[in-house]
Amino acid sequence: MFARGEDGVYRCEDFVSYGWLEHGFGTRNSGDWLDGRKIAELKQVHSAEIEIVGGNWGILGEGDGLIGRDAGVLLAIRTADCLPVLMVDVRLKVVAAVHAGWRGIVAGIGGRAVERMGEAFGSRAEDLRVAIGPGIGECCFETGPEVARQFFPEKKFGNEKPHVNLGEAMFGQLCETGIPAEGIFRAKLCTKCLGGEFYSYRREGQRAGRMWSAVGVREEAEKGRLARNQPPGIPGRSLKKETAD
Ligand SMILES: [Zn+2]
Repeated sequence: MFARGEDGVYRCEDFVSYGWLEHGFGTRNSGDWLDGRKIAELKQVHSAEIEIVGGNWGILGEGDGLIGRDAGVLLAIRTADCLPVLMVDVRLKVVAAVHAGWRGIVAGIGGRAVERMGEAFGSRAEDLRVAIGPGIGECCFETGPEVARQFFPEKKFGNEKPHVNLGEAMFGQLCETGIPAEGIFRAKLCTKCLGGEFYSYRREGQRAGRMWSAVGVREEAEKGRLARNQPPGIPGRSLKKETAD
């Protein structure tokens, strides 16, 4: 369901089937694959805060999720073990990029993103497709009981070291919003195990690099919308291609 391109970027095959959409999960081998592009990003703080990208790009504040529909702007997040989660409303052509570590997942960032897509753009859960990219796997995400307890409140931890499956937790959170399970795609690639391909904070510590994942609506696919985005100084031109949508 995920394929690695020659550019070292992983892509979800379901997402690739939408011609108007572009996306990817970068690796340590994908170089500056977003170089020269208009990027909307955040100062990531392990929160459940979501920002709406309204015709802007650059660093749009603090938070861990971006939602937008501006053609030609890529919504980008950086990870090294946390989960990169890309979402697409295939009916309304709205996209979201979410940085989800354990704190963000406990704070409900997956559900929050779906909620905000609904509030801001009218997205319905049943029209969403989600790609959960490479992140630290259950194999390697050993935590203290204080972290594990937030995922398994009922469970008693004896001598065993608890392991948390962030992908599974995110999957469950997204299913609860009403997104069909068959519309949620998981890379299931562990960033700590696969050191040749991914940066890992757990493996490399502070010096670990960060991998860029991004999603956006292609510029050429949205001529109608682009026309509406003409600067207000050119009256009359803005509605010409309205029907191209
Ligand atoms: Zn692993």
